Amino acid sequence: MSQVKFVLTEADLPKQWYNVLADLPFQLPPPLHPATSQPIGPDDLAPLFPFALILQEVSQDRMIDIPEPVRDVYRLWRPTPLYRARRWEQALDTPAKIYYKYEGVSPAGSHKPNTAVPQAFYNQQEGTKRLATETGAGQWGSSLAFACSVFGLECKVYMVKVSYEQKPYRRLLMETYGAQVVASPSSDTHAGRAILADSPDSPGSLGIAISEAVEDAALRDDTKYSLGSVLNHVLLHQTVIGQEVLKQLEMADADPDMLVGCVGGGSNFGGFALPFIPDQLKGKRRQIIAVEPTAAPSLTRGKYAYDYGDTAKMAPMVKMHTLGHDFVPAPIHAGGLRYHGMAPIISALYENGLIEARAVGQRAIFEAAVHFARAEGILPAPEPSHAIRVVMEEALRCKEAGESKTIVFNLCGHGHFDLSAYERYLTGQLSDYDYPSEAVESSLLRLPVVPA
Ligand SMILES: *Cc1c(COP(=O)(O)O)cnc(C)c1O
Repeated sequence: MSQVKFVLTEADLPKQWYNVLADLPFQLPPPLHPATSQPIGPDDLAPLFPFALILQEVSQDRMIDIPEPVRDVYRLWRPTPLYRARRWEQALDTPAKIYYKYEGVSPAGSHKPNTAVPQAFYNQQEGTKRLATETGAGQWGSSLAFACSVFGLECKVYMVKVSYEQKPYRRLLMETYGAQVVASPSSDTHAGRAILADSPDSPGSLGIAISEAVEDAALRDDTKYSLGSVLNHVLLHQTVIGQEVLKQLEMADADPDMLVGCVGGGSNFGGFALPFIPDQLKGKRRQIIAVEPTAAPSLTRGKYAYDYGDTAKMAPMVKMHTLGHDFVPAPIHAGGLRYHGMAPIISALYENGLIEARAVGQRAIFEAAVHFARAEGILPAPEPSHAIRVVMEEALRCKEAGESKTIVFNLCGHGHFDLSAYERYLTGQLSDYDYPSEAVESSLLRLPVVPA
């Protein structure tokens, strides 16, 4: 056996983020105001976001400098390692060469601090005192809580109720970092109270929790809103991942045939894959595969259309692959990746044939996760286990075909807070769930009608 880890020094930490919008041969459709359906301007976003992030959202600059105070915090865990999965290759008995980028070494255990830190920084620079946000499984909430503690901001987290009840340790991590956490729908906002009046037992959803956090920020002068995925500036911040991967693959003397990542809102996948898009555009084509759950299949079964970002229709409308803004994921779904929409950038890349998408069931992902953990030792979060499943299938296909492809995937977080989901899998209590076609169709009937 030879080299397993490809490790960069702190001097290799990227100094800039990569903005794919500068290179795309097409324009993204503009975000629209949820009430007027007119394109939104900076003034519409100013109550929610600091100016620096609004500028990044629409920037056409190819490279954007990472502020030094942000790089200083990144240094706590970046650069992250790239591994060659030699033991898993052996266990799979495959001629494929498998590499994974490991983002689980961050303080919150996932890629999310890559954007939480700059978001908190820019807010602090512009005088924001408090950030409001939503969280599903709790990874985003703990990342933002950490970033707020670093830059001295208060943090209020609306946590989807089903996770609040099932994942007490994520809540405690957020509280340890100093955040205030409530179960959403909550009685703290108009949006939450309206949902509770209608369905007191609502398990909550990301769409509902976003409505609450947006309302909180819109109604308070000292507070802005922070989103952990989907938006252009979030994907931008995550490109530190792919830029490091490019350098590490060079160290490994490897040229990937296939890149695989999981998609919820699209940020870890974007951060990992966007730095490879210039090659795609120049005709050096690789298979770039986004993997989502069959329980929330926005790319493979949703529609590419304008939709609201949240249930109460307060966030801007964007053109994206969507299951409808009132999508509520089945409570039996344990695999994460529950948002109803997909990042506009990822949606547009998919529409333009620059990336592929696949959907996998939750038993298959845990089967792959356990197989991976027994060989490599790292316990993956359920989300990246979607990518692991597809890598496993591709590696076995290579074995059958006698092909030695180079496959790289993003292991975007560890699963130490997800052991109750592993328990359900290991004790045979996890069943597959496909989001029903009727639900997709009826939800899509409620998409906003947007003037052409
Ligand atoms: C939040 C999260 C995701 C899903 O969000 P994306 O924006 O699609 O990356 C995936 N994996 C992990 C570990 C997460 O914390």
